[in-house]
Amino acid sequence: MSSEYKALSPETLADRLGGLDVMKKTVGRNAEGWTVREVGDGNLNLVFIVEGEAGSVIVKQALPYVRLVGDSWPLPLKRAFFEYHALIRQEARDPGSVPEVLHFDETQALIIMERLQPHIILRQQTMEGRKVEGLGRAMGLFAARTAFRGSDLSMKAGDKKADQALFAGNVELCDITETLVFTDPYYDAEMNRHTTPQLDGIVADLRRDEALKVEVQHMKRAFTSRGETMCHGDLHAGSIMVTDTESRVIDPEFAFYGPFGFDIGMLIGNYLMAYHAMPAHISDANACGEFQAWILEVIEETWSVYCAEFLRLWRTERTGILYPKALYEDQGHDFASESAAQQLLGEIFRDLVGFAGIEMHRRILGLAHVAELDTIEDEDLKAKCEAKCLKLGQMLVMNRNRLTGMDAVLAAARQTE
Ligand code: ADP
Ligand code: MG
Ligand code: MG
Ligand code: MG
Repeated sequence: MSSEYKALSPETLADRLGGLDVMKKTVGRNAEGWTVREVGDGNLNLVFIVEGEAGSVIVKQALPYVRLVGDSWPLPLKRAFFEYHALIRQEARDPGSVPEVLHFDETQALIIMERLQPHIILRQQTMEGRKVEGLGRAMGLFAARTAFRGSDLSMKAGDKKADQALFAGNVELCDITETLVFTDPYYDAEMNRHTTPQLDGIVADLRRDEALKVEVQHMKRAFTSRGETMCHGDLHAGSIMVTDTESRVIDPEFAFYGPFGFDIGMLIGNYLMAYHAMPAHISDANACGEFQAWILEVIEETWSVYCAEFLRLWRTERTGILYPKALYEDQGHDFASESAAQQLLGEIFRDLVGFAGIEMHRRILGLAHVAELDTIEDEDLKAKCEAKCLKLGQMLVMNRNRLTGMDAVLAAARQTE
């Protein structure tokens, strides 16, 4: 391949990548016979499925701008570098959770990776009313393992600081989150959109809520300043690919060092939006209620598995500089160690509740929406589902320090009017 960056196309891909050993081996030697399809449905990048006589792979390439908006919004190619570095760390920390990376070309901002098949995007699966066996467990383990093993609880101090420095370069993608998630939804920003006129009143109320704005900025300060672990950074239901029995995580280009509770909070915010969107996707009331109950079970399980796994790692893999065993177990102070772990999980819980609420706001008021809500054709019904999400989000952000546990969050979801 030439040394200068050039975006791939279905027409040029076989010619440009056909010489790579990894492509010959996994796709096939006869590059002219490959089938190439561009399938990127995300907001940012090109994604190709390449199929040949030997098999298929995914080729993902960054564009020098935001795909959703166009070349008026430039975005560095370096995000492919962060995605690559995040993928290999996630694979090491939770083996099997992400697609295997087969090749990385920094100049071309290109990753060749395992094609997940027959997996589909989780949002698609839930909109079709199909459950995923083991979803809560898989995501609870993923979130806990990546959180714990990417932090000062586990890593050597020098390695953690080097990684923190590396991911600190992901400035522009963090800026997207800082702007689109934590800022724009709370005032009349240019790129915002919401269902109008149905939501105008509630949106105006929300933007007048001064206490809410203060809480959201507290959460934003946690996002920008609390570099506790390597977060995926974009862990929503469009970054999880599933079959009826397996869940895998993709697309960590937003990876950064942030608060323990960020990823799991964003994810739970997405589940809560799916919960309130379901009546538009399953018309039979009983079937819908049953599916909604399953979504709440997934949330409950995600968090209980997260806590159990975090505690297991706390007891067995606490090799970092924080809460050293020399001060606790080695002194016979096991109770203090357990107590410290519980306090930390309590803090993670309060953070995740806040992040979940904010995610629910930005997906209804900001630039990037979620398919579960956005595909609802009846505008009145859509607004009704969205209004519930906005109110629940506000309740969560404002009460994150008062809610006693995940049961209280689920009760709040059930009771949203
Ligand atoms: P973006 O960063 O632009 O959001 P994604 O990484 O989310 O790109 O990929 C966009 C789409 O491409 C996904 O929604 C999925 O349908 C498909 N895709 C991405 N990676 C894989 C993979 N490893 N296996 C199968 N499909 C994938
Ligand atoms: Mg994506
Ligand atoms: Mg797994
Ligand atoms: Mg992405």
